[in-house]
Amino acid sequence: MTNYQVAVIPGDGIGPEVVNEAVKVLELLNKLDSTFQMGFTTYDWNSEYFLRNGKMMPDDALDTLKNYDAILFGAIGDRRVPDDVTVWDLIMPIRKKFNQYVNLRPVKLLKGVPSRYQGETIDFVIVRENAEGEYSNSGGRLYPGTEQEIAIQNTVITRTGTKKVARFAFEYAKQHGKTTVTSATKSNAIIHSMKLWDEAVKEVGKEFPAINLQSYYIDALAAYFVLRPEDFEVVVASNLFGDILSDLGSALVGGLGLSPSANLNPEGDFPSMFEPVHGSAPDIAGKGIANPIAQIWSAALMLEHLGRKDLADVILAAIEQVLVQKQVQTPDLGGSATTMDMGLAIREAIQLLLLVKEGQS
Ligand code: ATP
Repeated sequence: MTNYQVAVIPGDGIGPEVVNEAVKVLELLNKLDSTFQMGFTTYDWNSEYFLRNGKMMPDDALDTLKNYDAILFGAIGDRRVPDDVTVWDLIMPIRKKFNQYVNLRPVKLLKGVPSRYQGETIDFVIVRENAEGEYSNSGGRLYPGTEQEIAIQNTVITRTGTKKVARFAFEYAKQHGKTTVTSATKSNAIIHSMKLWDEAVKEVGKEFPAINLQSYYIDALAAYFVLRPEDFEVVVASNLFGDILSDLGSALVGGLGLSPSANLNPEGDFPSMFEPVHGSAPDIAGKGIANPIAQIWSAALMLEHLGRKDLADVILAAIEQVLVQKQVQTPDLGGSATTMDMGLAIREAIQLLLLVKEGQS
């Protein structure tokens, strides 16, 4: 019996709508699989909370969260609160305090997804450095509001941080039978930080002689993503480059409604956090039409991280089945189904798949 406790932070906009469906999937597994038990505690830390309390979460929030096995996160962002507040006062403290230095984003073209790459096998992961790099709060502005104004934003690349994320990428490749790790760089123009990135990645690569390391400048790599996405297996990138490549990757395989992510603390010293790549989507929030697949797939990544790849595989197979059948499609997929319709269809598919599995054993 595996017993897990999960903190749930639905957040803003479509966050609560899609999280609701992901939790219902996990609750179904509670019911159907006698070897699995997961408890949930929901926290209302979001922009509403900020407007009421002047902060995004309570002072002891990180102490509270650290006792959970994992965090299931929806999305954050609200027009009434500046984006830098929602990001730097909620998501960043969790990622940094819990040393979630890997952001793992699968880029997989599921069967049944409308895409211009139909017929191709696109199945790779982006391993984005998640704790330092270009997204540091080191810097400042001088002479604000004047013509002489200067803004300095420092990029922080460390040998240790880069080696850690590179090692994760190579280990991932090794464990998943992949042959090549691709590193995103720009050391021809960013000659200090990116040269250190290159050196550190190369150093780690030597520990994995069976795996090839190829290194591309980010501009060329973006073009290769579009021209031959089927060639990639594991892509490792700094925080900014990884962020941009992830949105590009998700556009290749059907869009934001289908793209999950995991913020991982690979050592397991702290809980890891699982969230869709998309944001709070204020344009469709409250309409009940958001696609919950990215969130449900993020919950599957959570199960895989917690050691239940068997259940994660069932969820992904159920998602794929619903997509192939095309009877239930949210508007982003060209249909008129609601978030709840899609959640229900996936739960029904899971139920059937588990029944078949049980019959086979
Ligand atoms: P953020 O700055 O938080 O990323 P954003 O509005 O720039 O917010 P998203 O919230 O990710 O970016 O939304 C981008 C577009 O994708 C919007 O048009 C939104 O409606 C659409 N979108 C995002 N997530 C989904 C989803 N789950 N289902 C359907 N459409 C989605």
